Amino acid sequence: MDRLKSSGLVKTPRVEEALRAVDRRLFIDAAHAAPADAYQDTPLRIGYSQTISAPHMHAICLELLERHLRPGCRALDVGSGSGYLAAAMALMVSPGGYVLGVEKVPELAARSLQSVRAACPGLLAEGAAAGDGPRPRGTVHDDPGGPPRPVLEITHANVLSAGLMDGAEPFDAIHVGAAADELHPLLVRALAPGGRMVIPLGPRYSTQVLTVVDKAANGDVTTHELMHVGYVPLTRPGEMEDGFATQHY
Ligand code: SAH
Repeated sequence: MDRLKSSGLVKTPRVEEALRAVDRRLFIDAAHAAPADAYQDTPLRIGYSQTISAPHMHAICLELLERHLRPGCRALDVGSGSGYLAAAMALMVSPGGYVLGVEKVPELAARSLQSVRAACPGLLAEGAAAGDGPRPRGTVHDDPGGPPRPVLEITHANVLSAGLMDGAEPFDAIHVGAAADELHPLLVRALAPGGRMVIPLGPRYSTQVLTVVDKAANGDVTTHELMHVGYVPLTRPGEMEDGFATQHY
């Protein structure tokens, strides 16, 4: 953390606090990476061919989204993987905010919930579980007599599945943690006016460009390219990492 600060990547106290408050060691599976490496500034394997991003990438993305992760904001973490960043985002939007993590690997979604439960139990209300699907505001959790709405929910789904985001209230901040080969209209639609999305755009297994997408209050969308990065692919439903179909005919 001190190095992330001295290098200027962590700029704001809110991002520093969130990163310090989430213990990365609890998001690492000893079957795939040595717990002793948890505090190194490198990506680490989390199983299922996926990785937890390096702390400096988490810091860069949180700083880019900082003004859209204020208390009360709604945020979406696409490809939430280990759950680390989703938890940090949830701390930043508390109190009053909401973060939805969407992860296509069911085992990772389930394990990430266990990690969050160990690291920041207050973020998950009783009964929050993988597999519920995004829930528009105004349903169960807003019932004044019902259970409190969790700050963080993590759902197992492919974010590009038809209909998944239909009916979901738009998000002030969207973080995409996997490389997209196009700026999917579905994700742009899910962004609220005045909102910001950070997304690595580019070809698979190559270099992508971390891109900031801003939606103005009138709905106009502007993009700017920031830096070269290397992320695992954002896959379409029914597709594997390498682009082959998951089913053989
Ligand atoms: N920010 C996460 C990054 C995990 S790697 C972390 O630091 O832990 C990216 C994740 O995106 C992987 O877990 C992968 O399974 C997931 N993913 C890829 N394509 C997806 C899709 N279309 N929908 C949901 N999750 C996806």
